[in-house]
Amino acid sequence: MDPDPQAGVQVGMRVVRGVDWKWGQQDGGEGGVGTVVELGRHGSPSTPDRTVVVQWDQGTRTNYRAGYLGAHDLLLYDNAQIGVRHPNIICDCCKKHGLRGMRWKCRVCLDYDLCTQCYMHNKHELAHAFDRYETAHSRPVTLSPRQGLLRIPLRGIFQGAKVVRGPDWEWGSQDGGEGKPGRVVDIRGWDVETGRSVASVTWADGTTNVYRVGHKGKVDLKCVGEAAGGFYYKDHLPRLGKPAELQRRVSADSQPFQHGDKVKCLLDTDVLREMQEGHGGWNPRMAEVSRPTVEPCVPSPLPPTPAACCDPRPSPQALGRVGKVVKVFGDGNLRVAVAGQRWTFSPSCLVAYRPEEDANLDVAERARENKSAAQLRRPVGGGAAPGHRSPQSCPQAH
Ligand SMILES: [Zn+2]
Ligand SMILES: [Zn+2]
Repeated sequence: MDPDPQAGVQVGMRVVRGVDWKWGQQDGGEGGVGTVVELGRHGSPSTPDRTVVVQWDQGTRTNYRAGYLGAHDLLLYDNAQIGVRHPNIICDCCKKHGLRGMRWKCRVCLDYDLCTQCYMHNKHELAHAFDRYETAHSRPVTLSPRQGLLRIPLRGIFQGAKVVRGPDWEWGSQDGGEGKPGRVVDIRGWDVETGRSVASVTWADGTTNVYRVGHKGKVDLKCVGEAAGGFYYKDHLPRLGKPAELQRRVSADSQPFQHGDKVKCLLDTDVLREMQEGHGGWNPRMAEVSRPTVEPCVPSPLPPTPAACCDPRPSPQALGRVGKVVKVFGDGNLRVAVAGQRWTFSPSCLVAYRPEEDANLDVAERARENKSAAQLRRPVGGGAAPGHRSPQSCPQAH
């Protein structure tokens, strides 16, 4: 039994595009908010394990990687909708008791906490570093100070948004008929159960009712005129589907590797086997929802055809072996030369290689690599290996 069930991915969570996003404007542009409405299941052909289906506020609904093949298309913006609450914590800015959603604790001041809204609205000293607590029971993740970091405006179903009935609507003609717009007058929680999970909407006839936007994983509304919903620091939100142990490392240092670094792959063969199983079933659904194929850039061993992605034969050779970073892609993924081949990895699958940790790398190989280091430092173009597709050539949906 999971000691902290709220730490996992759950329906109802509110999300924004994340580090491995390459799906164009499906979210309505960066800062667009969506709701997790379905979780992937092991063995499902359309939505495999470690993927989720997101209903974007502006109407698009499709699936994304939440750890699938090591990639994270989404960031968790808010988990108050699944009932995350810190019963004994008060936000020291807005004074709300029993802080809902993620908790942000100052590392400089004694006993000083903020809620997500206050943290993202630049309350308290920007030079003070904070710890992020995803749930009441999760371990803290230390963040850099907010000062000078990129802050993205949020857009979607917030107070002031113009909305029509959405995918889970089951409220008859309360809206005055399909397509008739209303105005969001408030976002609030549902009793004590969930937070920021329902919207009060006033319709043309003047009636006001409450509708689900995350509560129980349902979305009753669709946004036709989005409203500003504040901001978020994209570097400070957790990657959806990433285990907390890894998050600590990645949050502190979003791109830990450089060209020329020696790295070791962390994935084990079981994980890889699971990826292969899931991969075959991914494509049909992708086509159906306007994402033509999933090019699993992470880690994808030189696919000559989509079906041969994650070819089982060469894969295990890379696992646990030491490789060298030969290219850092714009999306943060890395091209790594290992075992005579080149592979693309998410940095989350790699650790820095330190010789004292592994005496297996023989001296001759080290000497040879040192000699060729100068050559490798020049920019490596697309000429990796036959069949190589760079992440840039992955299909972009529009
Ligand atoms: Zn607050
Ligand atoms: Zn402080």
